[in-house]
Amino acid sequence: RKHLTPVSGAAKLGQPFCVERIMQISEQKVILLNYEVVDDQGQLIDRSEEGGPLAYIHGTGQLIPGLETALEGRGQGDKIEVDVPPDQGYGERSDEGVQTVSRNQFDDDVEIEVGMQFEAQDDEGHQIVTVVAVDGESITLDTNHPLAGKTLHFAVEVLEVRDATAEELDHGHAHGPGGHHH
Ligand code: ZN
Repeated sequence: RKHLTPVSGAAKLGQPFCVERIMQISEQKVILLNYEVVDDQGQLIDRSEEGGPLAYIHGTGQLIPGLETALEGRGQGDKIEVDVPPDQGYGERSDEGVQTVSRNQFDDDVEIEVGMQFEAQDDEGHQIVTVVAVDGESITLDTNHPLAGKTLHFAVEVLEVRDATAEELDHGHAHGPGGHHH
């Protein structure tokens, strides 16, 4: 049987070589990635480049399910393209998500116009709502996530895969570049 001896530098065929295990994306790993996402029409929705790469802890639900699943088992340097349907993304649109509220739920000094977005807060956290109609004192809001009902087309490049630190696991988010700074 073959004897494998670790060597430095490029291995040539027929010479001893070093088998380096690539760290794979799995639970409790911190992943650093660049991404770009477009809709069905090819319109850019978001990209990481402006704010720098994104860091997250895999398996904690920080990414939408379809993207997290697609990244499972991948490694540093991998480039993947994945189409995420609504049920694996931000959900389907719901008619019940369109609600009419009173003007007095908004600050008086804000002139409310169709298309404006507000951040609403409830027990479940933050939510982006969009004004879809203004009729006197009644304002109709769409509380569906702006990306609900959309199939999202991602192009992702995995820049780094590493073990999460105990502190990161404790906090539930990645630290350092692309993550949280305290
Ligand atoms: Zn933290």
